[in-house]
Amino acid sequence: MDIHEYQAKEVLSNFGVTVPPGALAYSPEQAAYRARELGGDKWIVKAQVHAGGRGKAGGVKLCNSEAEIYEATENLFGKKLVTHQTGPEGKGIYRVYVEGAVPIAREIYLGFVLDRSSQRVMIVASSEGGMEIEEISAERPESIVRSTVEPAVGLQDFQAREIAFKLGIEPAMTQQMVRTLKGCYQAFSELDATMVEINPLVVTSDNRVIALDAKMTFDDNALFRHPQIAELRDKSQEDPRESRAADRGLSYVGLEGNIGCIVNGAGLAMATMDTIKLAGGEPANFLDIGGGATPERVAKAFRLVMSDSNVQAVLVNIFAGINRCDWVAEGVVQALREVEVDVPVVVRLAGTNVEEGQKILAQSGLPLIRATSLMEAAERAVGAWKNDLDQNTRVRAVK
Ligand code: ADP
Ligand code: MG
Repeated sequence: MDIHEYQAKEVLSNFGVTVPPGALAYSPEQAAYRARELGGDKWIVKAQVHAGGRGKAGGVKLCNSEAEIYEATENLFGKKLVTHQTGPEGKGIYRVYVEGAVPIAREIYLGFVLDRSSQRVMIVASSEGGMEIEEISAERPESIVRSTVEPAVGLQDFQAREIAFKLGIEPAMTQQMVRTLKGCYQAFSELDATMVEINPLVVTSDNRVIALDAKMTFDDNALFRHPQIAELRDKSQEDPRESRAADRGLSYVGLEGNIGCIVNGAGLAMATMDTIKLAGGEPANFLDIGGGATPERVAKAFRLVMSDSNVQAVLVNIFAGINRCDWVAEGVVQALREVEVDVPVVVRLAGTNVEEGQKILAQSGLPLIRATSLMEAAERAVGAWKNDLDQNTRVRAVK
């Protein structure tokens, strides 16, 4: 789960990271009022969307008066901001953050990520802040400093000082840098983050080390133990199909194609999508119903897939190990009785209780297309979809 910049700044400041004074606003009037409350004579207005690259896309504006703030925010609210990280559809702007402008002397890149090969948290830093890390690694790879943290002892002072030294931080500011690094690491590990990025972390002309931007991503599977983080979720920034799925405990990724997939296990979901492509189709989604799926869960998954108006055929592909084919079959039948499904449905079952599962499908009297192998299932789904398209070119009505 991603959170907004202003939220990440609040989280990190609780761990000792210095951030500029700022305030959130939901309207241009409020933004101007916030600036007056903050004081000063130069402010930065920042669109709050779950994506980086806002500056280049016009989502970060320097303002010299309340009137300028009003105008800048009026132009942002309700619009979609398209940055290189949002995709062409962009992300809606419903909140802006007003922040005091900081006199920047140096910009540094600072990132904390999970390094899977060393199985540790890795700190990635560069003296070339302001640029995206992809650009830095392409253009100035020698400027990148990497350091992995030993989890048993956490980030040590000497290690943080070494990073500061390699970044060329002046000795007078080393202590502030150490506090920032340790604060980020502590936030990362205590809150089960998967990414913390401060770009830029700046050194000001009056020798302060301040985080001007902040991004945090959290492990969805650990959110249950951090309710204060879970409540920072902003559904306006997510694909509505994916948030509906997350609310129902399903992992769903919406894609651009027309064949809806209901599969158990991420590996099988990948294989199913590949096979659909091989058969000449395009998957509409990636939906993993997980192990031990009850009929109710299967029915939920069905409803979810059918709520996507792009779906013109459905392929259910289950390999039951922990799952049971009869449960899945019951779920499919239950869903088809409740949800009006006006597209071809192909079901392929294999594994535990497959005979019982097949029997339930056969006895249901529903017009299901059955398949035994994955290739056959994919070909039938693609074939049925094409056939259906030829018969009537249509856009499905979503119930
Ligand atoms: P993004 O990474 O989405 O483009 P940032 O928050 O990094 O957004 O802002 C873009 C740039 O705007 C920063 O690199 C920095 O140069 C400038 N900036 C952001 N906040 C401030 C601030 N409070 N004071 C001065 N400059 C700022
Ligand atoms: Mg940034």
